[in-house]
Amino acid sequence: DEERLVRSEKLSVIGQLAAGVAHEIRNPLTALKGFTQLLRNKYTEHSYYFDIMGNEIDRINLIVNEFMTLAKPHYNAFQFNNIVSIVQSVLSILDTQATLYGVELDFQAQQNLPNLYCNENQLKQVFINVIKNAIEAMQDGGRVTIAIRFEPAEQMLHVKIQDQGVGMPEDVQRRIGEPFLTTKEKGTGLGLMVSSRIIEEHKGTMLITSKAGEGTLIDIQLPLHMEYMSNG
Ligand code: ADP
Ligand code: MG
Repeated sequence: DEERLVRSEKLSVIGQLAAGVAHEIRNPLTALKGFTQLLRNKYTEHSYYFDIMGNEIDRINLIVNEFMTLAKPHYNAFQFNNIVSIVQSVLSILDTQATLYGVELDFQAQQNLPNLYCNENQLKQVFINVIKNAIEAMQDGGRVTIAIRFEPAEQMLHVKIQDQGVGMPEDVQRRIGEPFLTTKEKGTGLGLMVSSRIIEEHKGTMLITSKAGEGTLIDIQLPLHMEYMSNG
């Protein structure tokens, strides 16, 4: 609806500005981090404070990195890629974390899926964000199912990520897409916002169905054909 459109436009302008600024913040941060470590080793009696400073710098870095995903020049990076290998490489990255949480990653892909015209790195970022959220939603373990299917009638690839985690309460669901919306102690609240922007750039959609206490389904739909990609 209209209000949503206005909001997403505002977010995209803010995102572009912030991404530019983010780039400039990274270098001084690296220097700060280095000298904090140096001081920590010199003044060991104050290591407690220097550790806090170091952790806070890491946190700024995390937030800045999420914005950097938006800043990277991605216009030329669209190519035909195999969606299965993109998802598989993400699964191998998240494998260790899943094991740590006692989470099983279950991957199913249809045979002979058509190639997708897409930005590989940006899509990897989306799947990392979404699957990481699924893992983090299951503190007591469980299963995340990742399924890829091609829908010939709509010429759409569907990537569905289903978890059995805590789910989202309605007030969180209503605010999804807002920057800095997080229910996690160490969250940035930027993962979903960044992801939905990337999917938008692929002319796709990201549908979220969630029930508190039962789990969450993220359905990412990506159109196959270039004509969807023009006028964008
Ligand atoms: P972060 O993970 O840093 O908190 P995100 O943008 O990735 O930021 O997610 C925003 C919020 O949405 C999370 O803090 C969490 O409350 C909720 N959320 C996202 N994915 C899930 C999920 N699979 N299950 C339950 N809650 C989720
Ligand atoms: Mg996240």
